[in-house]
Amino acid sequence: TRTPVTVTVTGAAGQIGYALLFRIASGQLLGADVPVTLRLLEIPQGLKAAEGTAMELDDCAFPLLQGIDISDDPNVAFDGANVALLVGARPRTKGMERGDLLEANGGIFKPQGKAINDHAADDIKVLVVGNPANTNALIAQAAAPDVPAERFTAMTRLDHNRALSQLSKKTGAPVSEIKKLTIWGNHSATQYPDVFHAEVAGKNAAEVVNDEQWLADTFIPTVAKRGAAIIEARGASSAASAANAAIDHVYTWVNGTAAGDWTSAGVVSDGSYGVPQGLISSFPVTAKDGKFEIVQGLDVNEFSRTRIDASVKELEEEREAVRNLGLI
Ligand code: NDP
Repeated sequence: TRTPVTVTVTGAAGQIGYALLFRIASGQLLGADVPVTLRLLEIPQGLKAAEGTAMELDDCAFPLLQGIDISDDPNVAFDGANVALLVGARPRTKGMERGDLLEANGGIFKPQGKAINDHAADDIKVLVVGNPANTNALIAQAAAPDVPAERFTAMTRLDHNRALSQLSKKTGAPVSEIKKLTIWGNHSATQYPDVFHAEVAGKNAAEVVNDEQWLADTFIPTVAKRGAAIIEARGASSAASAANAAIDHVYTWVNGTAAGDWTSAGVVSDGSYGVPQGLISSFPVTAKDGKFEIVQGLDVNEFSRTRIDASVKELEEEREAVRNLGLI
């Protein structure tokens, strides 16, 4: 039997946590033959609800689930963690400036980064879901100097999946026939979903669509503003689809991308495509042997360049802001 993998989930009692934990425990995060131990981190007011979720997890009698620990102390929750899903974050509330939001989240992600640095397993992989995800990941990474920087990633897989779905609807091709889509930049309204290298049933997606106005005026804003559209329709933010994307992100990271395809993830920039080194930005990535790699050598046309640059500029501004706050 394999040794269990320890998976820590923060904000475990939240909406996304509720949609996520059962899928982790059933084997969908890592593989159907990988036993898991769950560590749930919550703030003190969330502990009781987390205990309720743990009771339900017990009641599922998942064969792969080896144990559940609950704590409000990051030093305990990240002890021996192999995978950390940082979901809990401070939401933007009315009248809150961006600086206030970054500062509040710095108070969460800096100590969590330090706890990961001091207590996590050597092979720790971190996915930040809580927004602003890219910059929260940067804050945690900066607080973990002993962990290789590339182990800190931010989720843009939901944006990627949303783009797949929209392109599938437009072209009539099933999502399984769509390859090499890319989300560039920040997980925010400035993100850029790029179809110029994508393939639909083996043909170039931009040529299949053949409608630049649809790309600019419909596709890009639909993908970028999908979160708001879901809140409008459901009366609550997307939780199951966000959890699904977190599952996809980690599963791909651990188990690899298919030959001839790639995915999108917020990873630390090595300077590729003019994205300043060290920023955690979304790129086209492949995964192999538990490592993401940025796809190299793609041509970036004018249409894409201005949009990538705008999103990267926003990431630079966020980095500058957290630097000025002493968070990195
Ligand atoms: P959710 O579970 O709905 O969301 C959690 C975070 O994920 C938010 O920052 C949210 O950002 C973000 N997110 C990323 N992508 C998406 C998406 N596509 N759709 C929706 N959200 C997305 O929040 P809840 O309020 O239900 O739960 C948060 C939990 O976290 C609470 O139980 C709270 O107690 C806990 N918490 C735990 C902390 C800790 O463990 N130290 C610290 C802070 C909170 P956005 O706000 O932009 O929607």
